[in-house]
Amino acid sequence: MATVHNLGFPRIGKRRELKFAIEAYWAGEIDKQELQARGKAIRAENWALQAQAGVELLPIGDFAWYDHVLNTSLLLNAVPTRHQDQAGEVNLDTLFRIGRGRAPTGCTCAASEMTKWFNTNYHYIVPELTAEQTFSLGWQELFSQVEEAQALGYQVKPVLLGPVTYLYLAKCVGGEFDKLTLLERILPVYQQVLAKLAAQGVEWVQIDEPILALELDSAYRTALKTSFAQLTAQGVKLLLASYFDGVHAHLHDIAAYPVQGVHFDCVAAEYDFTVLSELISSEQVLSLGVVNGRNIWRADLSKLFTALQPIAAVRGDLLWLAPSCSLLHCPVDLSQETQLDEELKSWLAFAVQKGAELSLLKAALEGGDVAPLRAYSSPVQARQTSKRVNNLSVQARVAALTAADGQRQSPFALRIAKQAAALNLPLLPTTTIGSFPQTKAIRQARRDFKVGKITAADYQAQMEAEIRYAVEEQEALDLDVLVHGEAERNDMVEYFGELLNGFAFSQFGWVQSYGSRCVKPPIIWGDVSREQAMTVAWSRYAQSLTNKKMKGMLTGPVTILFWSFIRDDLDKPTIAKQIALALRDEVVELQEAGIEIIQIDEPAFREGMPLKASQWQSYLEWAAYAFRVSASGVKDETQIHTHMCYSEFNDIIAAIADMDADVITIETSRSNMDLLNAFEDFAYPNDIGPGVYDIHTPNVPDVAWIKALIHKAAEKVPVERLWVNPDCGLKTRAWPETREALRNMVIATKELREEL
Ligand code: GLN
Ligand code: ZN
Repeated sequence: MATVHNLGFPRIGKRRELKFAIEAYWAGEIDKQELQARGKAIRAENWALQAQAGVELLPIGDFAWYDHVLNTSLLLNAVPTRHQDQAGEVNLDTLFRIGRGRAPTGCTCAASEMTKWFNTNYHYIVPELTAEQTFSLGWQELFSQVEEAQALGYQVKPVLLGPVTYLYLAKCVGGEFDKLTLLERILPVYQQVLAKLAAQGVEWVQIDEPILALELDSAYRTALKTSFAQLTAQGVKLLLASYFDGVHAHLHDIAAYPVQGVHFDCVAAEYDFTVLSELISSEQVLSLGVVNGRNIWRADLSKLFTALQPIAAVRGDLLWLAPSCSLLHCPVDLSQETQLDEELKSWLAFAVQKGAELSLLKAALEGGDVAPLRAYSSPVQARQTSKRVNNLSVQARVAALTAADGQRQSPFALRIAKQAAALNLPLLPTTTIGSFPQTKAIRQARRDFKVGKITAADYQAQMEAEIRYAVEEQEALDLDVLVHGEAERNDMVEYFGELLNGFAFSQFGWVQSYGSRCVKPPIIWGDVSREQAMTVAWSRYAQSLTNKKMKGMLTGPVTILFWSFIRDDLDKPTIAKQIALALRDEVVELQEAGIEIIQIDEPAFREGMPLKASQWQSYLEWAAYAFRVSASGVKDETQIHTHMCYSEFNDIIAAIADMDADVITIETSRSNMDLLNAFEDFAYPNDIGPGVYDIHTPNVPDVAWIKALIHKAAEKVPVERLWVNPDCGLKTRAWPETREALRNMVIATKELREEL
């Protein structure tokens, strides 16, 4: 009889209760006891939801006040010196100090860095380890949560981030060193943890080693072998879990690890179940992650049944069924959604429903009755041929796309000359990235409009007033290229999703992004098309207010794709092309409306990078092509900008050049322009606007500081090709500091124009 288990459940609560509890604690509105009590209630609800759905073995240790990698650091007592408290105690405030640089009980110190968790939109806290790092049994929460769940009568399976992935994700502080030298110090603590769990009566422990989805060098492969050799026989059975991509290159290593079970993500990669079943010995558990843990689609259980039946017959108890990965990346419960239409809803499954899918599957595999599976999956099949999903004209348009559609009329050198003549901008043109402060009044107006408190005409009038205000401010500041300020946008993806066909929005479909921050990604359920212009009226209005150039503002196809839940019945490049075509029409219409500069933001361009380096090239090619399709419908004189806000261009600089935007604005101020090295080394040919101040803080940069940064930039990029702008949009800032910072930016630029 197969066992249904889970790799992890969303920790945020059905209605983001955890977010509100933590933020109330940070604000001093509730005390530690109250926070603990609310966390406990969320855990109890999560366990009950899973158990009711039919999950037999519950993950423990998936709950986190901030992040599960940070939990691991605390468990191992790897606390950076600056975050330690005087008593050397590890507690909730230690955790918040590391995660966000402060906690209610004192200490303001730089938080640890945060970065993307593999190829998801979740961000973890990067462990900071020194060459002298020691580890010891630290935070006890895992053990108390095991006790808590056992007291409620549940069968539990604690989940640990494996030691090798932990080291892989860590950063060296105090100089580079080989992180794997720490393995022998870390393993004894893992052994202690396992022994302690064994003493609590735990039978199974899940060890996550997601780095198996990467291309690993021999040092890491050896480290994994060593690790499992030492973790085995500590009184518990070990289930090795990998996810987010296939582990085909490591299958023989995996088969030789002395573990009692192995889990495979069978959604992110294709496996032949028979091959896996033969590879994993007849004494080991084979766990198949057959339901997508990262997306929101109802599973085709009939299809899964057919694939699983032969394996189930052979393996009996030694087949386990699970979601592909932790459900952390999936919203909690579809049954809360009251505003999605019934048909669309019948195509979806959130975390709770995924548990139920697995138990339905198990029941059919045991009893052989497939009728319930057929009934459950019939909407999935209906979806495939639904007229609503399939838009033949969109499909035909995508099919007809050629290389030429991804190309501007002339090469950059010719275009930029025509643009210079048409736009007549000074040396070092100044601009901003798009948004201006999203004030309380703006957000209130949007809410009022949504609930019908104010009419569309009132809303429009109010937004126009905001646009006028932003334009007047920019004119007073004497910026060269203006923006309308994005007052009408709640979010840079949601705004477009709401206007495009093929998108839906949930009410409670939140997923954790980092710490207490959650996002509610749109759902792309059908072929994407543009019904009407989305931004033209706002941009035209803004342009009518000024003689300066008004920059149109769009979100790019790659970013819309990666910040949404996407279809599982269509490949990513095709979805990106559909969005690109919709945007292309918008770009052309903006041009027709007299907008001569159009920015297409792609902050998620890097996020889409596949885990395996060998697949980067093909990703970068289709992603850059999709961008170019959106940008290439215009004449040479129209200037296309793009914007990206990070770090790290070295490995994608060729693709950035391949996007062929006339101007790219990037975030550089915090790296002191070092980021430009990648552009310099590559001899990046087009124009660049390296951000000259950090918009993440209200601090106002002074003129000398900005000048020094521009000087530095001019050493790396010819000054004729440089633009001057902040790092990113200003929506999270207030007007006073925005005004002052931009004033200094303009003064610095004007002084430099005289000096250079
Ligand atoms: N145009 C957007 C803004 O200014 C860009 C946001 C982003 O890069 N994330 O807000
Ligand atoms: Zn940005």
